[in-house]
Amino acid sequence: MLRNDMLEKWDRDSFFHPSTHLAEFARGNAPQRVIRTGQGCHIEDRDGTRLLDAFAGLYCVNVGYGRTDIADAIAEQARELAYYHAYVGHGTEASITLAQMVLDRAPEGMSKVYFGQSGSDANETNIKLVWYYNNILGRPEKKKIISRWRGYHGSGLMTGSLTGLELFHKKFDLPLAQVIHTEAPYYYRRDDLDLSEEQFTDHCVAELEALIEREGADTIAAFIGEPVLGTGGIVPPPAGYWDKMQAVLKEHDILLIVDEVVTGFGRLGTMMGSDHYGLKPDLITIAKGLTSAYAPLSGSIVGEKMWKVLEKGTDENGPIGHGWTYSAHPIGAAAGVANLKLIDELNLVQAAGDTGAYFQNALKDALGNHAKVGEIRGEGLMAAVEFVADRDNRTFFDASEKVGPRVAAALLEHGVIGRAMPQGDILGFAPPFCMTREEADEVAGKTAKAVASVLG
Ligand code: PMP
Repeated sequence: MLRNDMLEKWDRDSFFHPSTHLAEFARGNAPQRVIRTGQGCHIEDRDGTRLLDAFAGLYCVNVGYGRTDIADAIAEQARELAYYHAYVGHGTEASITLAQMVLDRAPEGMSKVYFGQSGSDANETNIKLVWYYNNILGRPEKKKIISRWRGYHGSGLMTGSLTGLELFHKKFDLPLAQVIHTEAPYYYRRDDLDLSEEQFTDHCVAELEALIEREGADTIAAFIGEPVLGTGGIVPPPAGYWDKMQAVLKEHDILLIVDEVVTGFGRLGTMMGSDHYGLKPDLITIAKGLTSAYAPLSGSIVGEKMWKVLEKGTDENGPIGHGWTYSAHPIGAAAGVANLKLIDELNLVQAAGDTGAYFQNALKDALGNHAKVGEIRGEGLMAAVEFVADRDNRTFFDASEKVGPRVAAALLEHGVIGRAMPQGDILGFAPPFCMTREEADEVAGKTAKAVASVLG
């Protein structure tokens, strides 16, 4: 095994880390941690420090670390056939089986699955399919995409544009012109404190209607949203939000893309977030939970209405000009099949719902009375604690105080990983579905200690 000091030097000299302060890292002022192994909800670094990972990597290791069933399926696939492409009608047993398994778990009306590698490329595929669809229908002007402020949909050119977070736009010349943003469904951060939750929902719907009116429905192709805002702050929607939003989209013939990269395959305690909120998508984005991150794989689930038009398009124009070398990669597909089987066998969707409810209560018990905790919220195994300067007047800390990152760092000192969400002082949790109640209590208790050490 390489010496740690050697590895750390190579790391600083050679490795361009994503979402990292590059200059601070080069100066040795940013965290540098080399992870060696993982089991259940825990990971261990090369120094032997064991950490309880209450964010499941990047909310993706849903079945937990160290699952030999999935590792064996990957190894077997690699030995049998590491790769063959999926172009012009080719496939493997794993990719075909996985497509069928995904559709069995998808909401009614979904027709086919296109496989990619990441959530970003799956959303890129979705936007291309939406444009293709409207071109085939003879309405080339209907192309704009509505996303929400604080939505997260990836960090490519189009998907980084869809993402409604300043950090992902700044200095990258984004968002692109075809993307327009509307109000974040974030009740706690509403401007008008007098609004009830229902009134705030109506405000979000009115904002959407005004945007459609301003831009013209004949220029707007689709709306994209996560069932629960993820990276934007872990925010469940206000009461009645999705029903009312869907009605407006339908009225204006605007397609609905539901980004289930985080919520797909159980995280909310239902198989899909769409089930949870009664969503009727035209396209669904899946990634993380599809393989629990044992191998990179994503998908676009295409609804029947769109599929018919895509078929017609190829009759008129020849094969669809869209494909990645690694579409439906057999190793990713084998991981996906083994992962979805494991979720069923261990009843992990139910576990996510049950443990999620327990965990939310544990956080409320441990932190609910703290003067600097403004809100504790979540759904299933997504939870967030939002810090405020003054709870009664709901005033926020200045970003320069870095309250969220400081609490996350203090929590790490206690051996627990939470995530300081990128915008606002929000500590996020999204643990593996196999988290026990004892582990949930540990996370809540240590979070209270970490908060006390930073905020008194
Ligand atoms: N959509 C959502 C809802 C996500 O949370 C993410 C990643 N956090 C993505 C898309 C992008 O996925 P990836 O990082 O795999 O490109």
